[in-house]
Amino acid sequence: MTRLFNDPDEFVEDSVAGFVAASGRWVRPVTGGVVRSTRGAEPTVAVVVGGGSGHYPAFAGLVGPGFAHGAVMGNLFASPSAHQVRSVAKAAHEGRGVLLSYGNYAGDVLHFTQAQDRLREAGIDCRTVTVTDDISSAPPHEREKRRGIAGDLVVFKTAGAAAEQGHDLDDVERLARLANDRTRSLGVAFGGCTLPGATEPLFTVPQGRMAVGLGIHGEPGIDEVDIPTAAELAQLLVERLLAERPDDAAPTGRVVPILNGLGSVKYEELYVVYGAVDRLLTEAGVEVVSPEVGEFCTSFDMAGVSLTLLWLDDELDRLWHASCDTPAFRRGSVDGRVVVTTVADDDDEIETIGPAAEESRRAAAVVAHALDAVAAMLDDQADELGRIDRIAGDGDHGIGMQRGSRAAAAAASRAVTAGAGARTALQHAGDAWADKGGGTSGAIWGEMLVDLGAALGDDDAVDASALSAGVGRMKDAVMSFGKATVGDKTMIDAIVPFADTLRDRLAQGDALLDAWATAADAAQAAAEATAQLTARLGRARTHGDRSLGTPDPGAVSFALVTRTVLDVLKEDA
Ligand code: ADP
Ligand code: MG
Repeated sequence: MTRLFNDPDEFVEDSVAGFVAASGRWVRPVTGGVVRSTRGAEPTVAVVVGGGSGHYPAFAGLVGPGFAHGAVMGNLFASPSAHQVRSVAKAAHEGRGVLLSYGNYAGDVLHFTQAQDRLREAGIDCRTVTVTDDISSAPPHEREKRRGIAGDLVVFKTAGAAAEQGHDLDDVERLARLANDRTRSLGVAFGGCTLPGATEPLFTVPQGRMAVGLGIHGEPGIDEVDIPTAAELAQLLVERLLAERPDDAAPTGRVVPILNGLGSVKYEELYVVYGAVDRLLTEAGVEVVSPEVGEFCTSFDMAGVSLTLLWLDDELDRLWHASCDTPAFRRGSVDGRVVVTTVADDDDEIETIGPAAEESRRAAAVVAHALDAVAAMLDDQADELGRIDRIAGDGDHGIGMQRGSRAAAAAASRAVTAGAGARTALQHAGDAWADKGGGTSGAIWGEMLVDLGAALGDDDAVDASALSAGVGRMKDAVMSFGKATVGDKTMIDAIVPFADTLRDRLAQGDALLDAWATAADAAQAAAEATAQLTARLGRARTHGDRSLGTPDPGAVSFALVTRTVLDVLKEDA
């Protein structure tokens, strides 16, 4: 239960403001997150971490000398947008390149990769190391598909220490990857978390039961058992993690155990578990080195713990023990820091409203009207979309679509008031959707609106064939961006029949409204048919079979949007 908040919609903004007020010794705010408030004598590679909010001290609590240079902070459990990543990375950059590091979640991968492409285009050398420590999320032969949990701490600390010691970007990247390769985690949960303002938990675990491998956003576990004793829990975690010892680590190697509380497990309870962990590891013959017990990657007020094992080698040993100073994690002493004088946060990404033809401005007004209607529809549907997403995903699809569409509608109407044409209105709306909606669907909807806008332009009237060509281009762009094809159980399953039917019906001579209505029916039928599919991509992939019988939330919401837009087109006709 989250008891203390003002406006729940403003929870993250309020929390970030308070964090910054309390942590000026380490951080200063920039668009999209925070960066260090001090600099060392020599410039270093910049390590930029991030992800959704709700995981403190990940990610902002780990910014400071010897650790991260900046943290991008998305909305609650929702990936930050590419724009936010870019902004933090630019502010953190000291001239020697940027390493992006974050947990391996589909939405984060889309947004961070898009940001990396743009940073490279801007001449900043940028690399990525995703954290994949959670052994429950994919089998060993698919390690690269695993998601990141408390192993974040290890990978970020290693990269930050390597940067601090003056290593170049190649080396910082190599060492971060090495740290990830030698880190394994497994988590369990006894109960879900409740987001600010929500009356129900995001997910639940039955009374007296423990979910094994449950994800930090409530992604379903791999197993459910009765709650064991602390010693039995320690045994379960240690056994499964030792069974996954990295190939190149000796069975008698040096191991750092990190016992992580996920939100509402008391420190004393953690120590009871840790006692058994320490004993079991020693009995197994490994050398226990510098253990950590506490909260390093939480999941709001989720009741649960995870255990991480880091298998040291000489390089990792040196980096793990190097000094650092951050709001949430300190080691040794750090000196010689100079306070950075805050420069104005020059956000060069904000697009100005250029000239537009009268016809295009009329089309932009329809766009704004349609987005308003979509936002209102999603207000009504948010709970149901969340429910569908909870079955195999993380339950945030409704909230994400609601926030994203509201922001997009507001941005479009501001743009229209300022005289924008269709391209510019959709561009502003898409950026706003990606910023506020977060998650995979936020990235994709942002991309769709921007692409549709690019096809429509600011100079021409939008007729049926222009609209259909724009929808086709939007479909192609999203498929190349998200790499999904028909049958993967994503919104692509609804987008493709929609775009193809619209094109075909218009070619057959249908009027726009008739063609759109047939296409919306096709999208709805295809969305319903995804219930028969097993998810192969995105968050639901980990638990593909569980989604059988339930349609894909993103496909369902896409079909609903096409239906709402039809109503607006009818009114407008
Ligand atoms: P997240 O998965 O980050 O929690 P949402 O819950 O908002 O984001 O959106 C989930 C939806 O995103 C899925 O139902 C699916 O339709 C869509 N999706 C996931 N991965 C892809 C992809 N690679 N391409 C297209 N759509 C995708
Ligand atoms: Mg989701």
